[in-house]
Amino acid sequence: MMLLLKLPLLMAAVLSLGLATSFSPSASKGREYYEQRGEVVWEVPTDRKVIALTFDDGPHPVHTDHILKLLKQYDAKATFFVVGNRAAKYPELVRRAAMEGHEIGNHTYTHPYFNRNRHTETMRRELSDTHDAIFRATGQPPHLFRPPGGYYNEAVVHMAKQSGYLVILWSWDQDTNDWRSPGTGRIVRKVLDHDHNGDIVLFHDFVEGRTQTVDALRVILPELKQRGYQFVTVSELLSMRKSVPVKKP
Ligand SMILES: [Zn+2]
Repeated sequence: MMLLLKLPLLMAAVLSLGLATSFSPSASKGREYYEQRGEVVWEVPTDRKVIALTFDDGPHPVHTDHILKLLKQYDAKATFFVVGNRAAKYPELVRRAAMEGHEIGNHTYTHPYFNRNRHTETMRRELSDTHDAIFRATGQPPHLFRPPGGYYNEAVVHMAKQSGYLVILWSWDQDTNDWRSPGTGRIVRKVLDHDHNGDIVLFHDFVEGRTQTVDALRVILPELKQRGYQFVTVSELLSMRKSVPVKKP
């Protein structure tokens, strides 16, 4: 009982420390449960030398433009989890990203954290309004959903599934924390010290204040390319999953 009472306080503490993107405290079942059911994806086991770069919270008229130019320079495809109201404001950027071969995912309309009891209808509207904004911009329906802050629970997973979405998080050791502007070097090291086949790397193309993401990418992209990686969209990565051999009885 005491623990239950303390949980909201703990959660508030976690949030105030700005660690929200690294935790999913509201998940009632563990990672294994959702991973085995194929309902939430953190990374994709594969033999191929591929990596999926993802950018959340945009589009941003300056940063997204810089990132798109860099991606093109290194022949890299990525996935942008856009916030609906920003996609509605900058549809030409969303369209351009899609035209240049990148994938567009849904990151809700107003970026609420689904870490407390939200009305299912509110969550559904957050998804459907963003779905419409992406479809208007690109003519293509998105299939991937990334809940803000990585907060998920059974209700969120169920609602996403019902709306035709797969929940995509990120490799836990590939959370660059770039939204906190930790220094370009730290962002770079986070990615380059932990690279694995099938990783999903978390960046942000919208950051409050000064962004270090673009400078970090100038180092990360050539180095990973040098190491032999191909940069693919999350959907491409999902199609490269290593097949698990069927056990004979
Ligand atoms: Zn976000």
